[in-house]
Amino acid sequence: MINFLTFYTVPDGEGMPFPGKWVKDAPKEEALVHYVGWEPDVQEILQALEPTVLCWAVHVMGSIPFAGHEHVTIIGDAMHAMTLHVSAGTGQAMEDACMLGHLLVHDLTMRDTVPATMQIYEDRRLAFANAVIAAACKTGLMYEFNGPEYNGMLPMDADAL
Ligand SMILES: Cc1cc2nc3c(=O)[nH]c(=O)nc-3n(C[C@H](O)[C@H](O)[C@H](O)COP(=O)(O)OP(=O)(O)OC[C@H]3O[C@@H](n4cnc5c(N)ncnc54)[C@H](O)[C@@H]3O)c2cc1C
Repeated sequence: MINFLTFYTVPDGEGMPFPGKWVKDAPKEEALVHYVGWEPDVQEILQALEPTVLCWAVHVMGSIPFAGHEHVTIIGDAMHAMTLHVSAGTGQAMEDACMLGHLLVHDLTMRDTVPATMQIYEDRRLAFANAVIAAACKTGLMYEFNGPEYNGMLPMDADAL
């Protein structure tokens, strides 16, 4: 069995409300329509799809300014949901949990120092996770030749100039 993902980006959709369900089953034809004209290897894999595919609307948390308050904090996608282009969402969630766990069992962490502990967690994790969000976004733009440097051209078009 091969499990694979395809992406279909709507650049103008960024920052706009998403009206539909975030995860839905769809007939495979709904996915295939976006890959007409792609090379035979891709077509072969796409034709092997099950009749029904799973579609995700991928949402990004953006750069939130803080991750918690007092005794409450958030981890994982709740803090830094990102696009998939550097395959880092789960890893970032695990780094959050690992650091939070270490901090919470630290000898200096007491009930009344928990807010300070949470602040250390936020200081160490939030900016880093936001940087990974930005890297994932930039990588996605490059994969799809949507980066500003391409100005709507594929690299081979640019060579011809
Ligand atoms: C198509 C796709 C491919 C991906 N590929 C990769 C990859 O290759 N590598 C990678 O590192 N990351 C990947 N990710 C990202 C990764 O899946 C997420 O970053 C990761 O799952 C985040 O973990 P989380 O625990 O923060 O959130 P989640 O995995 O979303 O877990 C949150 C849980 O909370 C539950 N929940 C929500 N609301 C409530 C409620 N009110 N009460 C109780 N439970 C609730 C949800 O059902 C869910 O089980 C991918 C994501 C997608 C969509």
